[in-house]
Amino acid sequence: MPEVVIIGGGITGLAAAYTLQKAGNVDYLLVERDRRLGGKILTEKVDGFIIEGGPDCYLAEKPSVARLSAQMGIEHRLLCSNEDHKGTLVLSRGRLHKLPEGLMLMVPTKILPFALSPLISWPGKFRMALDLLLPVKKDDSDETLAQFVTRRLGREALDKIAGPLIGGIHGSDAEEMSLKASFPRFIKMEQDYGSLTRAMLAARKKAAAIKPDPGKPRHTYFMSFIEGMGELTDTAAARLDPRRVVTGVTVTGIERFAAGGNHRYRLHFDHLDPVEADVVIVTAPANQAAELVEDLDRALAGTLAEIPMASSATISLAYRRDEVSHPMDGFGFLIPHIEGRKISAVTYSSVKWDHRVPDCRHVLLRTFVGGAHNQELVDLSDQELLNLVRREFREIMGITAEPELSMIHRWVKCRPQYTLGHLDRVAAIEKRTAAYTGLYLAGASYRGIGIPDCINDGIKAAENAIAYLRK
Ligand SMILES: Cc1cc2nc3c(=O)[nH]c(=O)nc-3n(C[C@H](O)[C@H](O)[C@H](O)COP(=O)(O)OP(=O)(O)OC[C@H]3O[C@@H](n4cnc5c(N)ncnc54)[C@H](O)[C@@H]3O)c2cc1C
Repeated sequence: MPEVVIIGGGITGLAAAYTLQKAGNVDYLLVERDRRLGGKILTEKVDGFIIEGGPDCYLAEKPSVARLSAQMGIEHRLLCSNEDHKGTLVLSRGRLHKLPEGLMLMVPTKILPFALSPLISWPGKFRMALDLLLPVKKDDSDETLAQFVTRRLGREALDKIAGPLIGGIHGSDAEEMSLKASFPRFIKMEQDYGSLTRAMLAARKKAAAIKPDPGKPRHTYFMSFIEGMGELTDTAAARLDPRRVVTGVTVTGIERFAAGGNHRYRLHFDHLDPVEADVVIVTAPANQAAELVEDLDRALAGTLAEIPMASSATISLAYRRDEVSHPMDGFGFLIPHIEGRKISAVTYSSVKWDHRVPDCRHVLLRTFVGGAHNQELVDLSDQELLNLVRREFREIMGITAEPELSMIHRWVKCRPQYTLGHLDRVAAIEKRTAAYTGLYLAGASYRGIGIPDCINDGIKAAENAIAYLRK
């Protein structure tokens, strides 16, 4: 019988299992419902194309991916984005405009490119500049990302920049996102500098003063792996003892029982005999975790179920280069909700990254539906989704050609939304879970949705498990 059972083999569960494996003397079992490990990290290789069904990158500013990669001996596989083609465009009134150079997150730090950009109207630009003069928020209450951006930079900055840029990254609606849970750094910037613009200018100055260290590997803001994000999870999975990993098995319930003055857990599966363990690390998304703990603690299950989950889909299309006349000059474009389109963003995957197409005669594009808006589109049939995407590509980019390859990945009700009240919900979950020694909840639903956050959370859960077992 294992000492620790990890439920879920996404990056959080894999990071937890890898930590236990490295510790050496912990008997663990990782149980994954799918036949495949990796969870939302899903890279497919077809006819020389590398297609990302889930995330296509991680943010380099958070070091945990690079650190884990170094520990696993794959740091030489890290891939920088193609900086020669850097740049994001935004669809505004049917036309694509480059985000002005010097725009950091959503704040302009270079006056001339910003002033010359046709993306924001002159009144909108003046409103954004008011950020330098506006007073700092006095009270400590939470607000939505939309309220914050409108307060500091104005409505146009929200609609055309912050909403699509930041909401798009999180697959969330800026009108509902909790600023404290999603972007605590904006609060600190406002508090420390009195203005986002001043904070970003200071950050730019600081970054410029750092001399590149030739001894350190180069990195870009967005990073991936040569053969896609799946290299990270495939490598972590390969480092585990295969006897301690089961796939294609669903955990159906967790039961707690008294044993020798302590408590232990009994896990039930869809088609295996129950297993008993001292520690359980649940990394399934909160709504699925809720079902697992329903019999253990109804109140805990209730709070877990309160974390909203969105659905989204990614649709990747490959074309012959000579059949796409669009210049594809940048990493892709964002589509503000006010444009009334069905798709929310397009990544020029073969421009952003090397190695994504078999040869230079092809291009690969990836688009998104659902997330914050239009979630019902995820339920369309494959053919309906393809027709919809091709229609939008034709209208926005003038692409009329038949794609040589298309691939759809759906993520149904499993993308956590950090809406107002998220921090209170997580605090309540942590308090409630603390009553169950040896039970840990980790993963994207709680303390950060990005891959680096998930790795940190998985490692922390494993370290807590080890400390508990050693007691
Ligand atoms: C389309 C998309 C794009 C994204 N883009 C980015 C990006 O660019 N950068 C970034 O950093 N992040 C991005 N993310 C977010 C990031 O991918 C996720 O937050 C992260 O991968 C979640 O990892 P996890 O291990 O916490 O959860 P998951 O990957 O969801 O893993 C949980 C696992 O638990 C399993 N499971 C659930 N219930 C059970 C059960 N009862 N029994 C057994 N197993 C169970 C599931 O099958 C799943 O494999 C994106 C996500 C999506 C969907």
